[in-house]
Amino acid sequence: MTSSKKILVLAGDGIGPEVMREVAKIVNWFRAYRGLDVDIAEELVGGASLEVHGVPIRDEVIQRAHEVDAILFGAVGDPKWAHVDFNLRPEAAILALRKELDLFANLRPAQVFDALADASTLKAEYVSKLDLLIVRETVGGIYFGTPRGIETLPDGTRRGINTELYTTPEIERVARVAFDAARKRQGHVCSVEKSNVMESGLLWREVVTSLQQAEYPDVTLTHMLADNCAMQLVRNPRQFDVIVTGNLFGDLLSDLASMLTGSLGMLPSATLGPLKEDGRRAALYEPIHGSAPDIAGQGIANPIAQILSFAMMLRYSFDRDEDARLIETAIENILNTGLRTADIMTPGTARVGTEVMVAAILQEIKRLSGQG
Ligand code: NAD
Repeated sequence: MTSSKKILVLAGDGIGPEVMREVAKIVNWFRAYRGLDVDIAEELVGGASLEVHGVPIRDEVIQRAHEVDAILFGAVGDPKWAHVDFNLRPEAAILALRKELDLFANLRPAQVFDALADASTLKAEYVSKLDLLIVRETVGGIYFGTPRGIETLPDGTRRGINTELYTTPEIERVARVAFDAARKRQGHVCSVEKSNVMESGLLWREVVTSLQQAEYPDVTLTHMLADNCAMQLVRNPRQFDVIVTGNLFGDLLSDLASMLTGSLGMLPSATLGPLKEDGRRAALYEPIHGSAPDIAGQGIANPIAQILSFAMMLRYSFDRDEDARLIETAIENILNTGLRTADIMTPGTARVGTEVMVAAILQEIKRLSGQG
């Protein structure tokens, strides 16, 4: 019998496959014991696909990506393919998926587990229990707006041009993602732009405000200028629940926010496409870290970002908030026992590899749920 829902697993390169192999044990436990009724298919992507098929992602895989409910992505890339053409590089696979599936909304939580509050470059008192989500528009704005280019004026002066450009539907669809996410969290959205100096920011503010009034009166909306937001993220990051912003500001602010947590191996992300007529939407879940070639094959990679990416999938693609929280609580409890992978070790904690960390988290999930 086949399931109605489908997941495509793309482990990729470097630490991708070794982490995914372990995380699959957690995915399969949810299938066996929590009624997660999904079919799983796996495909090669990135350098792994390049070696076997001569391209970083095959058309068949893109087609499959269109058909599934969610994609669990590992990481792609390795210095050994740095010499090949840009369109053949492993990284071209993720770019192709984002483009083909119109993955326009990037969701990046920055969550600080108590046990790791000291890993942040900010004082623990400012970041402990931090839990914010940045929703960044990713296919519009100044990175894609036209006119763009470098031109030479008659007097020989050269000038570079990029255009910040947002339309009402582009703003509405990403704001909707943010409002929907806020409903699953603390119910507060902060919309960020530069409406004091940019018309695109002014329109952004108007559109987000109208949408909130018309469709999301239960969600609290505030506005903040992007420069102030950067300052506030460092001054008092816990004031935020969901931040929604355009491509350029989101790029900067989400990197800033990720470092509040201090550990790359802990950070998941989701990228969502447009809602289809049947109510489904393309969705890709991946850690924000890369393929970490420097530690690949050693069994020491931190699997938590990948596990949290799966938790985001449960929350946003399968509406299984309770299961997502079960995973997050299990991770928190295991970190509290002092178990650490090498990247998040501090004095007095116990170092374990990928496999043992996943096994401990799975054991805790079983204990908390009383199942399996
Ligand atoms: P990286 O994120 O792979 O690694 C940066 C540092 O963090 C390394 O020292 C690495 O060992 C460490 N690290 C990363 N993830 C870790 C984990 N889970 N556990 C423990 N340590 C971890 O970034 P990079 O070195 O700049 O890039 C390596 C390759 O990854 C490049 O080819 C790059 O293009 C690619 N990349 C891919 C993606 C993606 O697939 N979406 C994202 C970023 C980078």
